Amino acid sequence: MDTVLVLLHAESDGTLSTPAFEAVEAAARTSAETKSAGFAVGVIGATTQPALDAVAASGASRFFAAEHPELAQSRYASDAAAAEAVCRASGASLIIAPMTSRWARALPGVAHRLGGQIDTHVTGAGVAGGVVSVNRWFYRQRMEGVLTRAKRPWIILIDPGAVSAWAGPAGSASAEHVAVEIGPALTRTRVAGIEAPPAEQQTIRPDAELLFVAGAGWTKKQADGHVHSAEAEALILDFLRASRASLGSSKSLVDLSGEGHSVLQFMSHLNQVGQTGSTPRHPKGLAACCHGEEPHVVGWRFITERRAINLDPNCGWARGKADVLYVADAFAIMKKVNDLLAGGR
Ligand SMILES: Cc1cc2nc3c(=O)[nH]c(=O)nc-3n(C[C@H](O)[C@H](O)[C@H](O)COP(=O)(O)OP(=O)(O)OC[C@H]3O[C@@H](n4cnc5c(N)ncnc54)[C@H](O)[C@@H]3O)c2cc1C
Repeated sequence: MDTVLVLLHAESDGTLSTPAFEAVEAAARTSAETKSAGFAVGVIGATTQPALDAVAASGASRFFAAEHPELAQSRYASDAAAAEAVCRASGASLIIAPMTSRWARALPGVAHRLGGQIDTHVTGAGVAGGVVSVNRWFYRQRMEGVLTRAKRPWIILIDPGAVSAWAGPAGSASAEHVAVEIGPALTRTRVAGIEAPPAEQQTIRPDAELLFVAGAGWTKKQADGHVHSAEAEALILDFLRASRASLGSSKSLVDLSGEGHSVLQFMSHLNQVGQTGSTPRHPKGLAACCHGEEPHVVGWRFITERRAINLDPNCGWARGKADVLYVADAFAIMKKVNDLLAGGR
């Protein structure tokens, strides 16, 4: 019988992120389905008590904490040492953790040190006939595989957004503190500072309810024979500010900058959705001035409700790829939408 540990890292204020609560939900379900004697929660960080208390009522029977001031920042050497110590203390054979950049960097090395194996980008875990299996997408999200492993310990990193987050009342957890030695050799790498765009310029928002995709049509000649890139930028940015939507792009639009065409300044290849771009997860998506070709729409695999605005009634979205297609001028529609969001008429 497997013993389950959900392994988390606390944020700088000691709390947990949404992906951490999702991993707790995945661990609670797997523990129940394997009829394990209960699962354990392990948290590393500079301060761990707020995180432990937040999941005190999750059904876990044991709690482990590795605390050290050096764990305030993400760093492979110290994170791996702390994670290894918690895994060994728990004796768990199945270790479920959120697929954060911090764990994606540290836990493959931990799996090696423990003599176990790891699977990253897991989108679901289940049990059939008493055997634990995980789901994972291959070949740019085109094929889904279900795999099991005999090797233990088995570390499973759950992709953010793949499982609903555990939601329960906070309580009071009493943790077993795991000693972790973090000497100078483990702290040679230091975070000197974080350079990030201001929040309002940060256009990729994985937690947003809505994905707004802009296509190359925004930079093409319009009915009056002219391009209106400045107007397009203003309309899109106003909409993002008011809706807090996440911004996606077609490949054609982000490629234009390399060809010296008129471009939207805030768009980069990081925004690209599709076969050679990202596959974001949002409940709703709205595409405007994007044709909806297959290599683009394949990136919408996890968008539940899809709408598109296009002048062309024969565009790709019209062929079963969108739930609703507005055959209309996106400039006019988005102006009206922005007016409505601003409280106008
Ligand atoms: C191997 C390979 C991989 C690829 N990977 C990707 C990928 O990952 N992601 C991706 O996006 N593409 C990818 N592509 C490219 C993809 O096939 C399309 O070429 C691309 O998605 C087209 O982008 P677009 O719809 O923005 O531009 P266009 O095809 O130029 O379409 C612009 C659209 O805007 C509409 N339009 C113009 N003005 C307005 C207006 N005022 N109001 C409303 N609509 C308007 C037009 O009717 C038109 O449909 C890939 C292609 C290949 C071969």
